[in-house]
Amino acid sequence: MPAIHKLPEVLINQIAAGEVVERPASVLKELMENSLDAGSRAVEVQLTQGGIKQLRISDDGCGIDQGDLGLALERHATSKIASLEDLEAVGTMGFRGEALAAIASVARTQITSRTPDAAHAWRVTERAREPVPAALNGGTVIEVEDLYYNTPARRKFLKSDATEFGHCDDVFRRVALARPDVGFQLSHNGRLTLRLAAGDAERRVREILGDEFMTHSRRVEVDAGAMRLSGFAALPAYARANRDAQFFYVNGRFVRDKLIQHALRQAYADILHGARHPAFVLFLDMDPAGVDVNVHPAKTEVRFREGRAIHQFVFHGLTRALASPLQHVTPVAEA
Ligand code: ADP
Ligand code: MG
Repeated sequence: MPAIHKLPEVLINQIAAGEVVERPASVLKELMENSLDAGSRAVEVQLTQGGIKQLRISDDGCGIDQGDLGLALERHATSKIASLEDLEAVGTMGFRGEALAAIASVARTQITSRTPDAAHAWRVTERAREPVPAALNGGTVIEVEDLYYNTPARRKFLKSDATEFGHCDDVFRRVALARPDVGFQLSHNGRLTLRLAAGDAERRVREILGDEFMTHSRRVEVDAGAMRLSGFAALPAYARANRDAQFFYVNGRFVRDKLIQHALRQAYADILHGARHPAFVLFLDMDPAGVDVNVHPAKTEVRFREGRAIHQFVFHGLTRALASPLQHVTPVAEA
């Protein structure tokens, strides 16, 4: 056996990228979450060829300091946590400090950013990490090009532009559903495909799931002090053939969790028959200390400290909302 040796940094990042950067949609998720963590009010996404050729995300957030720009591309470098206490109470979408490093190890990556007090913007790329002056009014623009250009084995697993765009569109909607207070815009190959103005939750849900979903939905609103379940759940008449209209968020994070799925399925068990799937947009908000989001790099899995209590709360809250006779969402008047 050869002697043990430390792997080079770029290879370490490329290995990590296997978990964080599965396809263009996973890059998009990380970049949109970064924009939201930066306090942006408007996020614009431009994709070329399903995001394989280019993803460009621009925001009006806090920007990155000249002195921090090079660090942003390094592994385990983050501005979001500094201690274990911070990790346990984490309120941002990111905290692992590995997304940009992973992305930059498998795609040509450029960051242009300007903080409010800077005289002008600065730019770094994955090859040139010393910031150079650039032009930008404010916020951050991240451009990711030629995904997997240097790891051809991975590139082979990418599907058609249309399929990859579909996954990006899913991610875009998932992220946007949880943040109705932020404006979002998506375009593909130079054509605007979705524009969402900042507004209230009901409007955002309607824009993404449609009028029909709203007409067939009950509002869910259960507040138990330490936990809150809110959102919209469709009655059986709106059940789907697939799970595409299932959105569940824990503290603003889209998750797919077995325990939650079980509670939801049970709440629908008596009213939904056959192979149909319920449709819902639900937000569970709770003390961050009661849920571990650091289970997997993509953070779509979570672990609850009080699993039983969460299960009960979600099951009962939803059962009650679905059974109550007069809680239809009032349709908005035709414009
Ligand atoms: P994490 O989000 O886990 O901190 P990332 O690798 O995604 O790690 O980002 C590294 C750092 O770069 C962030 O902690 C943040 O300070 C900075 N950053 C990334 N994107 C943006 C953005 N759009 N606006 C402001 N700062 C950003
Ligand atoms: Mg991040």
